[in-house]
Amino acid sequence: MLTLTSEDVLLDRHADDWRDALNQAGEALVEAGRVAPGYRDGLHAREAQSSTYLGNGIAIPHGTPESREHVKTTGVRVLQFPHGIEWHDGQRVTLLVTIAAQSDEHLDILRQLTHVLDRDGVAERLAAADTREEIITLLSKAPVEARLDADTLCLGFPARDRFELALAAAARLRQVGSVDSSFVAEINTLEPVALGQGLWLVSSAQGVITPTLGVATPEQAFSGPKGPVNAVFCLAAQGDAHRGLLERLGSLLDAGDGESLADADAATLLARLSGESAEAETARATVLNAHGLHARPAKQLVQVARRQTMPVKVRLLEGSAEAVSAASLTKVIGLGARRGQTLVFSAEGDGASEALEALVAAVRDGLGEHVTPLQEASFEAPVDEDESLPAPLEDDVAHPAVPASPGLAIAPAFVMRTPRFEYPERADGLDDTRRGDSDAQLARLDAAIREAAEQLRALVRTAQGGEVAEILSMHEEMLDDPELREAAHESLSTGTSAEAAWWSAIDTAARAQENLADRLLAERAADLRDVGRRVLGILCGVRLPTPPETPYILITDDVGPSDVARLDTAKVRGLVTARGGATSHSAILARALGIPAVVGGGERVLTLANDIDVIVDGERGRVIPAPSDERRSRTELRLKEHEMREREAYAARHEEARTQDGHRVEVAANLGNTAHATDAVERGAEGVGLLRTEFVFMAHPEAPDLDTQIAEYRQAIDALDGRPLVARTLDVGGDKPLPYWPLPQEDNPFLGLRGIRLALTRPEVLETQLRALLTAAGDRPLRIMFPMVKDIAEFRAAREIFDRVQAEVQAGDVQLGVMIEIPSCALLAPSLAAEVDFFSIGTNDLTQYTLAIDRGHAELSAQADGLHPAVLALIRMTVEAAHAQGKWVGVCGELASDAQAVPVLVGLGVDELSVSARQVPMVKARLRELTLEVARQHAELALSQSTGDAVREALEAL
Ligand code: PEP
Ligand code: MG
Repeated sequence: MLTLTSEDVLLDRHADDWRDALNQAGEALVEAGRVAPGYRDGLHAREAQSSTYLGNGIAIPHGTPESREHVKTTGVRVLQFPHGIEWHDGQRVTLLVTIAAQSDEHLDILRQLTHVLDRDGVAERLAAADTREEIITLLSKAPVEARLDADTLCLGFPARDRFELALAAAARLRQVGSVDSSFVAEINTLEPVALGQGLWLVSSAQGVITPTLGVATPEQAFSGPKGPVNAVFCLAAQGDAHRGLLERLGSLLDAGDGESLADADAATLLARLSGESAEAETARATVLNAHGLHARPAKQLVQVARRQTMPVKVRLLEGSAEAVSAASLTKVIGLGARRGQTLVFSAEGDGASEALEALVAAVRDGLGEHVTPLQEASFEAPVDEDESLPAPLEDDVAHPAVPASPGLAIAPAFVMRTPRFEYPERADGLDDTRRGDSDAQLARLDAAIREAAEQLRALVRTAQGGEVAEILSMHEEMLDDPELREAAHESLSTGTSAEAAWWSAIDTAARAQENLADRLLAERAADLRDVGRRVLGILCGVRLPTPPETPYILITDDVGPSDVARLDTAKVRGLVTARGGATSHSAILARALGIPAVVGGGERVLTLANDIDVIVDGERGRVIPAPSDERRSRTELRLKEHEMREREAYAARHEEARTQDGHRVEVAANLGNTAHATDAVERGAEGVGLLRTEFVFMAHPEAPDLDTQIAEYRQAIDALDGRPLVARTLDVGGDKPLPYWPLPQEDNPFLGLRGIRLALTRPEVLETQLRALLTAAGDRPLRIMFPMVKDIAEFRAAREIFDRVQAEVQAGDVQLGVMIEIPSCALLAPSLAAEVDFFSIGTNDLTQYTLAIDRGHAELSAQADGLHPAVLALIRMTVEAAHAQGKWVGVCGELASDAQAVPVLVGLGVDELSVSARQVPMVKARLRELTLEVARQHAELALSQSTGDAVREALEAL
């Protein structure tokens, strides 16, 4: 939640242009100690992807996910530009809300700002504000909405009059922690008023903790002395938080739908009260985007909704969200939908199904972002009780998991399982040693609380300050909370066991906490449960797992933010989780902490025994329990060497890469943004081996014109200072959609209209891009390649356009090539090699199409290994065909920086490796350690295997 202080606001700033303003914003975050200077590039890179302008004069610059490593602490700096700045998308910006966020906190900030966007005149007031406080007040006012969800419903209650129903609903509100007992007492004195159609309302503001609407329906609708009773609404009122809900209730009555609520189930009732009409068709879609529906995917969703012939509404299944127009950007962002949550779309009339289908498909396809399916899906399959225990992992075998945070670690396992607590609900069901009346239960509970507090104090003392100690002290304070104790005491008096009374108090408080709009506060619910378990453990005589004092590999189901904050990073050498994908919270946090991690290893990882040694390979995505002595010594050696080599590689980054016997391999950088070319050169790149030009197109609301493109390409070519640039022409479609180039719905977009096939449907776009590239290059070395080419015919069609432009522009040093990404192209390489100047192998796509595994698939992508012998055979065919014609071959997919693959690729004869800039020094270092002969042995060995795993095993054994 955005909690601004006056230091966060910088008034009356002036900037020459938007770039200057963005630099000032970055500088402000640096000065505030929130980020390192490198974050500024992240702000520019993010802006190059698409504008962060939100509306009402506000832009919310934030860094790219890659730049998060520069974030020290999450925070915001607000810069006011009273005279306005023209933003690069033509909007006028008067306020920059600049965000330094380590994960998806910016979603909350966005969500809150959408309410500012809805308010008339707020832009002018923000621009004119002359005190920081005024800006804070304008930005920080978050509306509170009354809660209504499945837990606040009390359906099918066996009541005989409306008073009883009102009381049942009030009692439910108390159970969920929205009100205290004075509310229930007050409702007892009130008479429900008739709303019509058998609906009744009773309301009070007495004892309200969280504004909430409770609903009670009778087991069977009945008629009382004042008319039919279908449902009683019990409102815990606070301010006007309930206004929206009551308005929707009013519309429901206007539509005459009141009676239908009598026997509605929870889902239907919530749907009606969200504003979804009874006639509407609905469809659900799970949000897969790693950072939820933030501005960019939300924009895409809105565009799809606007293309439909009828209005479409959308609501969030979780929570009491109102169904809002899917065509309103602020409303859609305002849902605050996160990955894993469900969107419910609704529409009415002819063609509603098609409209809903289009929206569901758009969400499923990631709304312009690369998405991975939810890992959890694999856990939903029902399991036979007897078979529910997964088979243990075999010793000394590499088990695949999703690589989440790079690095290698070896240490004893510490498996953190949530312990099972078993206790009876009633005190008289306890065993002899624990049985006793309510006083005895009270004494047991108090003793357990005291012991837990003592444990926590001891832990705080040993935690030696820092975030871990802070969290533990907070737990200690939570234990001291008189309300928790009181709530437990109340149920003890009714004969409940100390265990059940305590857990019910904790659970109620935690649920109330979870419903708070403030996400950080809501996350404290996990802490409450943690504290609760500590006391429960003492009461039940169950010991909580205590991490060892010595370094260990943490193995757990999944880790939440507070778990990670508690991790002592000096002791946790590696992390393995059963659940979660590469974009899950645990993965993001592990990367931020620099802990080697693999995630989504499946429940089998939880069968590992404490203290057995485990190897975690965060690069290859492997967990190896109980490694053999041989494997263990190899790993330990690798670890030591790695650190030293990194240092040496960086020092030698500007030197050429030659094998020990003098074979030269060029190492270039892959770029997604021309602004990063200088950085690539600084890291030792000998050129750019792949410029993904899509970013220029994605950064604009329509295809960028010639001058814009020339300026972009020239920036990279200038920075390269005579080094070659390999630019790939526009590669969109499939997993790289472009909002202003709408494509018909395709069942399988990975095999559909994409890459060069798509570009050839609009030759004028390709022509402009080629003209821009040639103009920007002049006499400097430029290589152009076409993506996703399947055969010579496609290459010729594209070359025809190139020849036409070249005849007019005549750049001095140009070569024309194709990317080898489709198996057909590798198989037909001899025919292509005769006409192209070079090949660059895109192993990411080549692997996906050869193995028929979607490269983004959460569970299968670990098997989409570019070292699969089938892929290697295609690479060999490509190289042989090219060399026979005197042409060169590069590899620009991720395989080019894979440590095991580098010798294999060199052995296969690849002439150039293009890798991410950060990897350049290490790849060069690896090349220098090789001889061509050894590389050829690696290649032969790899080609003689029959699976990807066999290749890796064989190479590792060398
Ligand atoms: C590839 O497919 O290997 C490649 C480099 O292109 P991209 O990853 O951009 O599809
Ligand atoms: Mg590709």
